[in-house]
Amino acid sequence: MRPLALILCLAAIVAAPAFADPAEEEKALRSAWDALAKDFAANDLDKVAGHFSKEATAWLESAEGLAAYKPLRGTSEDELKGTARVLRLEPEAASKLEPGAFAKRYAAGLAAWKAEELSKSRVVKVRADGELRMVEVQLERPSEGDYRAHFTFSREGDGWKLSKSWVAHLHEYVSCCNLVYQVGIHLALFESKFKEYPGELGQLKESLMAATGNENALKCPLLGDEYVYLFPLEGDMTPPGRLTLYDRKPHADGTRLAVMFAGTPVWLDEAQFQEWLRKDLDVIQAKLPEVEKKVKADLETADGQKKANLENYWMKGLTGLRSVIKREGK
Ligand SMILES: [Zn+2]
Repeated sequence: MRPLALILCLAAIVAAPAFADPAEEEKALRSAWDALAKDFAANDLDKVAGHFSKEATAWLESAEGLAAYKPLRGTSEDELKGTARVLRLEPEAASKLEPGAFAKRYAAGLAAWKAEELSKSRVVKVRADGELRMVEVQLERPSEGDYRAHFTFSREGDGWKLSKSWVAHLHEYVSCCNLVYQVGIHLALFESKFKEYPGELGQLKESLMAATGNENALKCPLLGDEYVYLFPLEGDMTPPGRLTLYDRKPHADGTRLAVMFAGTPVWLDEAQFQEWLRKDLDVIQAKLPEVEKKVKADLETADGQKKANLENYWMKGLTGLRSVIKREGK
């Protein structure tokens, strides 16, 4: 066993079987992502793509990789503009990329953006697999509280390259973000059709299925859990920054995706998420009894469509809010 002092001195814990020289390996890892960050700073995404392992590149060019990155292309003009930003291309040039080139360049754009995080972070843990072919790096940025990030690299020749699993993981993150965004869009569509917000997320299932063909469109692709929905208690007057949908649990690296009432998706670390959630639930909890009283009073006299709306949307929405408040330990 290596002396503890040496491990601390390296600021890295390497699981057995150990590297021949952990300090050298950490240096090699650091130089791999420094090069990544440099190529990103130089705006050279093709070079960034050169930091993917052979396996990662093959995956991006495979049917699975192409299918995974295809939905990120976007169909609306806004989506295309967002995509072009990641690709660091003009929307016109972005729209002309072949599927393979698109997947590779998109992954490079995301990887490069993550590389900026790497360059500001401190290694807290390096975990290697049995054959030392894969390494997982956990990082922290002391200046930013609870910030955490995970990266996995594969051994290739004498150096380290971004692993296939990480490249696939990246796309999953974006998938969760896209999905949660889609659900947000369908919430707005639902309101414009029925003039009410859905009482339960399940009421969106049909329109989401029709639009995306994904029967799990209400579930985070990383967690497999259904997103949590906060029924907009103030209807159209709900503040645009109110959390409306969010990941039921944090992802493996401690982040959650959420959608604000305005439809904006956000990617939050757990501490930030909890702060916003507590604040929003306080407001909801304070307003709930008054709204409940009004809905119940309206129900006494309502009939036909109005009664059905109050029952299907408002009563279910309020019950949903009560159970979220209970679940979140308020
Ligand atoms: Zn998620």
